[in-house]
Amino acid sequence: MGDQPMSNLSQHEVLNLARALPVGKSEVRRAIMAEDKRLRAKYKFLAHQDLIGGAIVAASVVFNSALALGYMMGIIPAVMAVVGIAIGLSILHEIEHDLIHNLYFAGNRRLQHAVFWLIWILKLHANPIWRRKAHLRHHAKSGQLGDWEERLLGLGDRLGWRRLSAILHPFGSVVYMDEIADTDPEFDPRRTSNSSLLTAIVFCVLSGLGILNLVLPESSHQMFSDDVWNIISTLNVVWVLPGMLRHTAITIMTTSVHYFGDIPAGDVLYENQIVDHWLALPVQLFCFNFGATHVIHHFVAAQPFYLRQMVAPRVKPVLLAAGVRHNDLAILNRANRWNVLTEDANAA
Ligand SMILES: [Zn+2]
Ligand SMILES: [Zn+2]
Repeated sequence: MGDQPMSNLSQHEVLNLARALPVGKSEVRRAIMAEDKRLRAKYKFLAHQDLIGGAIVAASVVFNSALALGYMMGIIPAVMAVVGIAIGLSILHEIEHDLIHNLYFAGNRRLQHAVFWLIWILKLHANPIWRRKAHLRHHAKSGQLGDWEERLLGLGDRLGWRRLSAILHPFGSVVYMDEIADTDPEFDPRRTSNSSLLTAIVFCVLSGLGILNLVLPESSHQMFSDDVWNIISTLNVVWVLPGMLRHTAITIMTTSVHYFGDIPAGDVLYENQIVDHWLALPVQLFCFNFGATHVIHHFVAAQPFYLRQMVAPRVKPVLLAAGVRHNDLAILNRANRWNVLTEDANAA
């Protein structure tokens, strides 16, 4: 691309340039930053990043509370509450991830921790303080044995009951802990489990009682009053199930875009692919289009999630020209290998 400013080019021109010239990692980064700069110049309010982050947190909490209240008052059906709240949680998950990269409230550790705590409880999932360490490690060791965050979600494993557990259950990662500890001495399974004990207990108690509520015969319901069963049922609809839906969606997507095991360490060109197939749309709805845009984040981490989405259309041709794979839907059949799957895949 030379030194020509990408910001002055149309998407068509960018594509033609990308095809005509060898495109490397530095060109991809330059294209992302140029589009980021162009958008920030066009929409001045993007400079108020803390305000935007705070407003998104407040709006998501109000949106989810309204849906929960609407369900409790009988105004909206359970399905609408679960789907809507899961979308709100997926936005909060993006805020949590941006906070891990210190993109809001920089220097105000107390406020950052307060937001981490709020999102942790609402998502009923892994502790964000623990995740911060695992996630920064993911950037440093993506697709390698030290990539705890993704390996805990099944990355690199063959399709089977373990991957299904990690996809469907927010705390299903427990099935991978021993294996990760065996292959990476720096991973501490006990510390990892303990960090999220609070939400794991709440999740297991509530979901367990929710299942009992459905399967127990009427006579056995006397152990609790009707009011208690109603509270359990409501909490499952407005808290447990939306969290599970969000977790399942992003886990399917993240373990479908990352490569593992047979890629060169630290080479971002091999770490991810773009998945924007129409088949993935129902899943993308609950993870802010993760499959189509996560690769951009591996190239430029210091960019809020909404800007990543905004730069995506113009950056996509550059990524493809650089050799980033596109809709490689057979990735799961190869246990996330870049090349063919070999017999010792799970030992990699
Ligand atoms: Zn990643
Ligand atoms: Zn990140």
